[in-house]
Amino acid sequence: MFSVNQYVKARTLKEAYELNQARNSRVMGGMMWMRLGNARVQTIIDISGLGLDQIEETDHVIKIGAMCTLRTLEQRERLRKMYGGAIQEAVRHIVGVQFRNQATVGGSI
Ligand SMILES: Cc1cc2nc3c(=O)[nH]c(=O)nc-3n(C[C@H](O)[C@H](O)[C@H](O)COP(=O)(O)OP(=O)(O)OC[C@H]3O[C@@H](n4cnc5c(N)ncnc54)[C@H](O)[C@@H]3O)c2cc1C
Repeated sequence: MFSVNQYVKARTLKEAYELNQARNSRVMGGMMWMRLGNARVQTIIDISGLGLDQIEETDHVIKIGAMCTLRTLEQRERLRKMYGGAIQEAVRHIVGVQFRNQATVGGSI
């Protein structure tokens, strides 16, 4: 069973970072994996309000946010062109589209 004592929706990255310094805190991504485990979590930190679900592209840099879903990664055209479809191939076997719409890059790392 998975149980949580306190839920906090972080307002800033700094707040999330500080909350996560406690050993029994967990960052909450898509909650696909954590909820299947046996854990007692003191504080669960929701970072969905921090704008980390984006992929930012410039000429030379692609920044992938921790809350970006596996599905977003899979569908990004520039990544497909740059890596010859390798990123799509790496995630397309992971369960199904509904799952990949929720599981996050940060949680997977
Ligand atoms: C039925 C099932 C089948 C699966 N099959 C595969 C498979 O075939 N191949 C594969 O590679 N994976 C597979 N997985 C794993 C799946 O890819 C991961 O569960 C998922 O990607 C984790 O992301 P999440 O957002 O759900 O993380 P969560 O479950 O929310 O979190 C997992 C961990 O990551 C931390 N975390 C979460 N979000 C962040 C963040 N944004 N930044 C930092 N830390 C964070 C949490 O604190 C926690 O410790 C499977 C999982 C399930 C449940």
